[in-house]
Amino acid sequence: MRTLRSFLNDTWSTGEEPFSTLHDAVTGDPIAQTSTRGLDLGAAMQHAREVGGPALRAMTFAERGAFLKRLSGVIHAHRDELIELAQQNSGNTRGDAKFDIDGASGTLAFYAGLGEKLGDRTFLLDGGQERFSRSKRFLAQHVSVPRHGVAVHINAFNFPAWGLGEKAAVALLAGVPVFAKPATATALVTARIVELWEEQAELPAGAISLLCGSVGDLLDHLGPQDVVAFTGSGDTGRVIRAHPAVLRHSVPVNVEADSLNAAIFGPDLQERTETFEMFLADVVRDLTQKAGQKCTATRRIFVPRDRAAEVVAALSDRLDQAVVGDPRERVTTVGPLATASQQRDILGGIDRLGQVGRRVWGDPAQRPEQGFYVGPSLFLAEPDAPFIHEHEVFGPVATVVPYRDAAHAVELVARGGGGLVCSLYTDDRSFGAQVVLGLAPWHGRIYWGSRKVHDQGPGPGTVMPGLVHGGPGKAGGGEELGGLRGLGFYLQRCAIQGDARLLAEVLGVSDEG
Ligand code: NAP
Repeated sequence: MRTLRSFLNDTWSTGEEPFSTLHDAVTGDPIAQTSTRGLDLGAAMQHAREVGGPALRAMTFAERGAFLKRLSGVIHAHRDELIELAQQNSGNTRGDAKFDIDGASGTLAFYAGLGEKLGDRTFLLDGGQERFSRSKRFLAQHVSVPRHGVAVHINAFNFPAWGLGEKAAVALLAGVPVFAKPATATALVTARIVELWEEQAELPAGAISLLCGSVGDLLDHLGPQDVVAFTGSGDTGRVIRAHPAVLRHSVPVNVEADSLNAAIFGPDLQERTETFEMFLADVVRDLTQKAGQKCTATRRIFVPRDRAAEVVAALSDRLDQAVVGDPRERVTTVGPLATASQQRDILGGIDRLGQVGRRVWGDPAQRPEQGFYVGPSLFLAEPDAPFIHEHEVFGPVATVVPYRDAAHAVELVARGGGGLVCSLYTDDRSFGAQVVLGLAPWHGRIYWGSRKVHDQGPGPGTVMPGLVHGGPGKAGGGEELGGLRGLGFYLQRCAIQGDARLLAEVLGVSDEG
């Protein structure tokens, strides 16, 4: 069986027994093992800080951008090999795996482009010169400079390629070395990408480290210049936020966690119109793509009460076309879940939804015996039903919930406690305005589908590197990506007060003194 290695201090190393086992999601067979036991994570963090940090900070944005372009190119060049690994370890269909792997190379390429545009600078100016006294000569300039620490990236199981790439792209462009820790269960793809990068992408020394396996004592080694970006469950997010080293050193922690994403069906939608079709395509894509294991997938579908039966029937017609099975078969549209424990959790969630609502499509008992399968399920529940606004069932499962009017829809969506994305389908401007403005404080992103754009967007489930990804409250309160906005997490903003001429010389700004 293959043993995964960690990349620390610019060398590959393997932990000691006991090992965690990675499985083939289709057969349940063991395919690899990994351990971080016995690895000196304090020394590895110090190496990243002392070797990787200076190397990256010495590079201009354009040079960092060129580095990201190499990282993107290597992933793209090995796309087929990575797709195969994802099909085995994560149970992805080819389309699911492409979504993850192309998402990684695409996000790296996007940030490579931003680096090229930023050119020869090594840090960012924030706003212009500001006068704060009577003197025109004594001015201030805000700058955003790379932190002198390590960007610890702890990722979830569901996007082993994109999770690595989207976080690394932003930190490396900012000039901060990356210490990536993928979820153990699906680390195969991440480990292979870092191997390929090391062989082919001319990594600056110390710029990228990889920890393959459990987190061990990594967080004990955090210091005051480090940051942690985490994606995963709200429970783990809370444990990280409360870690003594995080508290002691005021380490910034970005959390992307659970989210009960909603889709709202506008009262104006009529069957066979473009907006109605857009709603159906987006909702069914989110239910089935990656077996519903996307942080942005729709979990709650809000429909006017008098239209609920019609919408359930239309969604059911579409779901009838879903094919659950071996993700390596071309006809398959829904592969297995990534792990046995995910399968257990989701079957438990489906049971609970059956108690608080009514199953209107799907039968979880009907699934291949081998492998971590759960077919799609659609529920119908009353707005006040317990559980539906509180618990994210992280699989191919969603619940249709009736609403009265725009204000009621807003109130119900907000009961989710804060989400990554909410989608809305309507051509009615007044309904749209109430929903968009009512729900913006509760979300990182709102996706408004309507007739004129029905064939333009990738659906609410696709995270775009130029748009922020994150959400308040239950979703973790974090924010990633968003183009240059994402760099802020890795940069320290500092207001520098001084002689306008000296500032102009040192910071490379025009002298207004
Ligand atoms: P998880 O159990 O919280 O694990 C996430 C990551 O945290 C893994 O790398 C895990 O490592 C690590 N971890 C576990 N315990 C830790 C600790 N005490 N200190 C530091 N790191 C620790 O989550 P998951 O099972 O991967 O994902 C489950 C949930 O995440 C889903 O139900 C979904 O709600 C949420 N999710 C959110 C997003 C988003 O973007 N908002 C994306 C994907 C998933 P090991 O694997 O080694 O245990």
